[in-house]
Amino acid sequence: MSSLPVLVLNSGSSSIKFSVYEAGNGERTRLFEGAVDGIGTDLGKFWIKDAEGKKLVDQTPAVPTRAVAFKMVADALHSGDFPAPAAIGHRTVCGGPTITENQLITPQLIDEIESYAALAPLHTPIAVYIMREALKLFPGLPNFAILDTYFHRTLPEVAKHMPIPSEYVAMGVRRYGYHGISYESIIHQLEPNVPENLIVAHLGNGASISAIRNGKCLDTSMALTPTSGIISGSRTGDIDPGVLIFILKKIAETTPNTLEAADKLETVISKKSGLLGISELSNDMRDLRDAIKAGNAKARLAVDKFTWTIARWIGSYVAELNGLDMLVFTGGIGENDIAARAEICAGLGALGIVVDPERNNVRGEVTISAANSKVKVRVIPPLEDLIIVNHVVRLLGK
Ligand code: AMP
Repeated sequence: MSSLPVLVLNSGSSSIKFSVYEAGNGERTRLFEGAVDGIGTDLGKFWIKDAEGKKLVDQTPAVPTRAVAFKMVADALHSGDFPAPAAIGHRTVCGGPTITENQLITPQLIDEIESYAALAPLHTPIAVYIMREALKLFPGLPNFAILDTYFHRTLPEVAKHMPIPSEYVAMGVRRYGYHGISYESIIHQLEPNVPENLIVAHLGNGASISAIRNGKCLDTSMALTPTSGIISGSRTGDIDPGVLIFILKKIAETTPNTLEAADKLETVISKKSGLLGISELSNDMRDLRDAIKAGNAKARLAVDKFTWTIARWIGSYVAELNGLDMLVFTGGIGENDIAARAEICAGLGALGIVVDPERNNVRGEVTISAANSKVKVRVIPPLEDLIIVNHVVRLLGK
């Protein structure tokens, strides 16, 4: 296959991120990346920079809608100033129970992904919108859905299956797992020396953790929705279901409509809880660290709850794997919050996890385990766009 530019699209609630890679003959070169931030505001940001970090576009336009934002991206890529993409890979958080393989996007596929939007309500509606727009604004280009759930397709039934009546299982209620492209990337970056028993903690604004045997996912903390598992920026993580019923009944006192009440409950557990809910301050770890320095006890409790929960998950995954060779931290907090890594690992010496404070005192890719640590502890920033490009190239070759 000759070289061709592949566009990667990754859309969030207030931004569209994109990058273009030149792909061919086993080579992958990032040509440029960019983003439109601040969707829904009068003062958005639209930037594109090349692989050396030089800004090629740097604007502060009004970005009232997602449609305006995506048109800006499409217009720039059609302007002739950049290599026009030959294929597009869409980061797709959840394909539901029926779409488990990465594949070519058709209007029917978009409808099917959309029919399971309730599983990832913060991501899927945005992703399907961008898919439909991409088919219109880049006519004739092959578009591919690259799934976060793909990595977790190897979950054993005992991990996937939920202890609920089978009628709900038949509706697609099961553990799917998220952050799969990040996990895939860590495995790819460890190749050819992927350890037999591996735990990867993806700690970002959303946070999850996976137990991986010989590169295949054995268990993962997020389940039906990304709200489950470990606590994160504004999500509860796993919680006594009785708490949900308690909160729902309280909401129902002033909101008798059941669906409205359910929507309010969803807002509570996925947007107002986690680090934000406990601290009553911020979902951002940097703000919490500043507040802790200033003596804020709620910020301290929020971070303690976060690190305590993660340590417990690591312990249970060591039991599930029946051993551990390597622990990898990734994501914004995993890569940058030196104190969080130290706090999580502080009580894990009995599991053979010992972090060297000097080695840990670094941001970015580094090995932080002490010389006497049985388990290697590493920090690895993922290359998620590269993984998406690799899948697109593989699918184009089919
Ligand atoms: P992500 O969702 O992977 O972009 O990660 C976002 C999270 O990483 C936020 O909670 C940030 O506060 C956190 N983060 C980013 N940089 C730092 C830093 N230098 N120190 C501590 N946390 C950071």
